[in-house]
Amino acid sequence: MHDRTGYEVGYDDAGDVQIIEGAAREDVPELTGSELQGGDGMGCHAGASEMKAAARAAGKSDILDQYAADYPQGPHDKPQSMCPAFGSLRVGLRMRRTATVLSGSACCVYGLTFVSHFYGARRSVGYVPFNSETLVTGKLFEDIREAVHDLADPALYDSIVVTNLCVPTASGVPLRLLPDEINGVRIVGIDVPGFGIPTHAEAKDVLAGAMLNYARKEIEAGPVQAPAGGKSDRPTVTLLGEMFPADPMVIGQMLEPLGLAAGPVVPAREWRELYAALDCGAVAAIHPFYTASMREFTAAGRPIIGSAPVGADGVANWLSDIGDAFGIAAEKVANAQNMFVGATKGALAGSQIKGTITLSGYEGSELLVARLLIESGADVPYCGTACPKTPQSEWDRQWLEAHGCKVVYRASLEDDLSAMEGVKPDLAIGTTPVVQKAKELGIPSLYYTNLISARPLMGPAGAGSLAQVINAAMSNKDRMAKMKDFFEGVGHGDTAGVWEGDPNLRPDFRAQHQKKLDKQARAAAAANMI
Ligand code: SF4
Repeated sequence: MHDRTGYEVGYDDAGDVQIIEGAAREDVPELTGSELQGGDGMGCHAGASEMKAAARAAGKSDILDQYAADYPQGPHDKPQSMCPAFGSLRVGLRMRRTATVLSGSACCVYGLTFVSHFYGARRSVGYVPFNSETLVTGKLFEDIREAVHDLADPALYDSIVVTNLCVPTASGVPLRLLPDEINGVRIVGIDVPGFGIPTHAEAKDVLAGAMLNYARKEIEAGPVQAPAGGKSDRPTVTLLGEMFPADPMVIGQMLEPLGLAAGPVVPAREWRELYAALDCGAVAAIHPFYTASMREFTAAGRPIIGSAPVGADGVANWLSDIGDAFGIAAEKVANAQNMFVGATKGALAGSQIKGTITLSGYEGSELLVARLLIESGADVPYCGTACPKTPQSEWDRQWLEAHGCKVVYRASLEDDLSAMEGVKPDLAIGTTPVVQKAKELGIPSLYYTNLISARPLMGPAGAGSLAQVINAAMSNKDRMAKMKDFFEGVGHGDTAGVWEGDPNLRPDFRAQHQKKLDKQARAAAAANMI
């Protein structure tokens, strides 16, 4: 095994080092109306180009350029899933001793808070409200600063995350001017606008990357708090991406014969885990879209390994990449491969899936799941992911395409629907609108986020985990067909809604209204020609 070079993380012996003391900035410039663009009338509905223009005019060009580079867009340029800020919100809410404060329109904050509690957040979400006046005069920033000062109790918190949603980002509310720390509590300010971050998956990276950046600077400044369980006696592999709780343990078992251990998972659950994450020998980008986080690991000199030990081929490839990254003897790697590839094959043989499946999602693990389905015996002609193409998923893409699967990055809802409608699979795995459409067509379907991504995937333990739920769903095909026949025509067009008798159809009214619309369209076309 070769020696790790570069970055060293120093831990204090007592394990109770306080964070570096930073001076609160007092030189916050008075912001004027001319510096602040936009207003609280802006939101998803205002259109991405207006919001982007406002944000650039308000001095947020740097951050928008960084996001454009980190999270390349297209073919769709606006979120087609939930508000992206949910990703970073959830990462903050899952972290111990971390407070979360949102700055945005009340409707956005209501929606985000609702969804976070729907998904089991057991913590309050802080909110600094604003109106047109506080936004335009800069008072909103003062209010945020005051709220953060009130909240910064080191007995309760290690960190406070302040998030600018769309309107404050477009208006240039300068979170970078918040103090780095208050009373020993770290302050992390991030902009997470829907017009700069395409998916909620990538918003997780915005916060994870910002926290890693902060932790890296702390490490550079001196000794930091040691991991709760002490420093690992073996070189570690940090795992990038949220995964099923058993997966890191399975990965740890696969690393053991190589003399390695699984390190922390990023996004982390506790601030001190960030130090241990940076103190790794290599990073496994299990989810391939954490671009900002990978930038921090690269700055710390840590190599990044793509793909994941999912399915027999995936386990073999991943262990080989790990062996290369750590300079482990080929014989040792081959032994580990024999052990775990064989076990994975055995598990796959006992949980076969027969049928055609289309798969789409926005979690970033879609390519891994598609590989596992194919290795389980399924025919998967289409895999769409809302996440971008990155080098870390390249091996998965090549493998899938070699096995007859079309991979579409940044897939739009239209891509996913047309694949499902064209293929007419035995099972459609997808997002809510895809599942809804599949049900209308009588095609069995499963929600990716709730039913697929919340299962173990790694190594032998993950190999058989999908078969049961998928085979059960596919066996519903006849029932779906019967339901389709029974409900055929109900809830569509004139039959939508609740009627006591037959709907009172007025085709004459409809024709008259259509004439009006046609006339307006002709007038608009004529006006354009002038
Ligand atoms: S914060 Fe989210 S919900 Fe609010 S305007 Fe932006 S994308 Fe839409």
